[in-house]
Amino acid sequence: MLFHSSRVRLFLVAIGCLLITSAPAAMTPIASAKPWLPPAEEDVQVTPVPQPSQAAIVSSKDFASRTIRLWSDYLGFGGFDTLGPPIGKQFEGRGGFYYQAYQRGVLQWRPDQQRAIPANTFDWLNEAGLDEALAAKGIPNAITSDGSHGDWLKARETRLGWLTNPEIKARFLANPNPSVYKTWNVDKSIELYGLPSSRPERFGPFITQRFQRIALQLWVSDVPQMPAKGSVVGILGGELLKEYGIIPADALDNGLGWEGSSPGDDGFDPWVGFLLPVAGVQPAYDMPSRLPGAPRDYRAGIHEGIDFYGVPYDAPVRAVKEGRVIRVDQNYTGISSQQWSIMSEVCVKLGYTPPDMLDIFRGRQVWIEHFHGVVSRYAHLNSIPPDLRLGDWVQAGQVIGGAGSTGTDETVAHAHVELWYAGKYIGQGQSGSQLIATIRRAFGG
Ligand SMILES: [Zn+2]
Repeated sequence: MLFHSSRVRLFLVAIGCLLITSAPAAMTPIASAKPWLPPAEEDVQVTPVPQPSQAAIVSSKDFASRTIRLWSDYLGFGGFDTLGPPIGKQFEGRGGFYYQAYQRGVLQWRPDQQRAIPANTFDWLNEAGLDEALAAKGIPNAITSDGSHGDWLKARETRLGWLTNPEIKARFLANPNPSVYKTWNVDKSIELYGLPSSRPERFGPFITQRFQRIALQLWVSDVPQMPAKGSVVGILGGELLKEYGIIPADALDNGLGWEGSSPGDDGFDPWVGFLLPVAGVQPAYDMPSRLPGAPRDYRAGIHEGIDFYGVPYDAPVRAVKEGRVIRVDQNYTGISSQQWSIMSEVCVKLGYTPPDMLDIFRGRQVWIEHFHGVVSRYAHLNSIPPDLRLGDWVQAGQVIGGAGSTGTDETVAHAHVELWYAGKYIGQGQSGSQLIATIRRAFGG
């Protein structure tokens, strides 16, 4: 094999840019961007802390005021593990469909199916005349005709026949995320990646095969700093679209892109079906100070959560529903009691609690986003399981922390849990028996 070394280096630089993503200024930095779909292979080390207004809102409306649930479908596809973080906000694109770009791909909202499906991002690149540019990055040109003349079954058979590299084929067929997908088959692979649009092709230290929605790359040489020999990684399709200006610029300027709107009009009720965060401990229905809406004079603010007292330090605090971890303060460092007093004084003088101070008053936190964009936040935690990571999918009842008093001036532990939907916390604007009824309903009590 003769490869001119500078040419190989060019590939490496180009591919390195795709695999090791440098976050744009508007986006919270991501320390290590994973290639497409290897959830079990690497640890996600990320530190974005979504702002409440971004994290709490997920669904938006199409032109006919129908709810678009790109965000909950993103979670359904495996979310962070599968598609990477969002790289912009939703946009209206080809065919009048609504799209959301993520680092590794793009979801298209299909109103006819009432669900999101991965878009043919690599076909878009082909249609934009970018095959030459992709070849310079080690991505094969798309084969223009598979001889099927529009016969999908024939195209399927022919193109699956192009899976001639055993490692790439195995990766294509593998269940990408068994914790999310209980079963898997070739049709699901096709839905996620599309059909092959090229045969495997050797480019210097790797072999790449192109699909409609991804390119898979098998490393066949050992190259320092690059994926290990024998590993198959994916090319970040969303990043490519961004690089070539295929995602509208105004859709890229919104940080994490968790942008949306008002509650759904599809009859969805956000305030039902929660587990008690501490087993056997009911909300203190007879103590309004422990419920949402209670005044918090020490910071001239309002309580946004539900307090569960009578628990020891490190009592297991459980996820109230299944969902995706969107914040986990693994590296929390507390504040001194002096700092706490100063913050309290400032709030009282201001007459309100600035959001950044409120965040400090909540102490060590975990946030989980559930289907439909309901978010639960767990505050004042004394501990967090060391293996709990941003992007993890947790089951209802899974322990996500230990009760504590971080961020407070107290010396007794309690669990503080907030439930958010569409920018509002549970019971917001309610009081008395109405508030109690809402919370009872939420926990089935
Ligand atoms: Zn509280």
